[in-house]
Amino acid sequence: MAERIKCLIIGSGPAGYTAAIYAARAKMDPVLYTGQEMGGQLMITTDVENYPGYPDGVMGPQMMDDFRKQAERFGTDIRMAMITKVDFTGPVHKAWAEDGTEIHADSIIISTGASAKWLGIESEQTFMNKGVSACAVCDGFFFKGTDVAIVGAGDTAAEEALYLSKLCPTVHMLVRRDEMRASKIMAERVMKAENIKIHWNTETQEILGGEEVEGVRIINNKTQEVSELAVKGFFVAIGHTPNTGIFEDYLDKDDTGYLITKADSSKTNVEGVFASGDAQDRIYRQAVTAAGTGCMAALDAERYLSEKEII
Ligand code: NDP
Repeated sequence: MAERIKCLIIGSGPAGYTAAIYAARAKMDPVLYTGQEMGGQLMITTDVENYPGYPDGVMGPQMMDDFRKQAERFGTDIRMAMITKVDFTGPVHKAWAEDGTEIHADSIIISTGASAKWLGIESEQTFMNKGVSACAVCDGFFFKGTDVAIVGAGDTAAEEALYLSKLCPTVHMLVRRDEMRASKIMAERVMKAENIKIHWNTETQEILGGEEVEGVRIINNKTQEVSELAVKGFFVAIGHTPNTGIFEDYLDKDDTGYLITKADSSKTNVEGVFASGDAQDRIYRQAVTAAGTGCMAALDAERYLSEKEII
């Protein structure tokens, strides 16, 4: 039998937990499904220095633990599972959890975030978890004392390169253009680090090795010069894709998969379904903006439920 609730929150990053804090305080009795990675992308981040309220910075997992506790304090029902299917055709929205639980919700707040992108070359799959990783903070330790390479030039790549530089003798940073996309402060830190060697205008041709990664073949896209680097670890930090696949048949998305919300609100094209966080934000993608849109989604859902006289 289906479980009937007022508010379902899908996802447990800053957006989901903030939505839960607001929804729980507004007596919407929210049920929050955490998804596979409880706490979302911040669980694989080290120092967060730009979230207001933490003057000395905070570790990403610690911050998410604080968010979770605050959501629980007001009674959010937090469940460690994935929502794998939805049906938004009726007035009451249906969702199914991975254990088969069927939920009927008057309102749904989507905060499913985004996941790491891959280069898409064959050797990346061959060496997955045998030296190839999309999370330096999770896997960097395994490469302590060895040389590694990292692809990307955004804030994530900069942060991860700096993290690796504390463990590894040399970090080769492979940047496809002649400048970094990362914020100035992060780019400067990377350029100052003595053991991070930046390879400008450089793309990855193939990851090399036998059982495990032993090197990488790179090409300079200006000179077409091909060379090899001896590395044991190969990290990919080239951005993220929004986790919006399960909403494919119901919600409007842009051409890269981000959910489209109506101007000045968190409303999607389906009544009673609201979107927040990185699942709908291809521009800012910060913890603080995700929390802000989570708050918006809970306020919009509250207004919706009270107009329907559900709360
Ligand atoms: P970004 O989209 O900002 O950067 C992706 C990087 O990967 C770019 O440099 C891009 O190159 C490069 N890239 C993309 N595809 C390829 C490819 N196929 N081969 C080689 N390189 C490729 O993603 P991030 O994950 O770095 O950051 C996302 C957002 O999160 C940003 O807004 C960032 O500021 C924020 N962030 C903030 C942090 C903090 O403040 N502590 C930490 C981490 C992220 P190109 O530049 O040529 O397009």
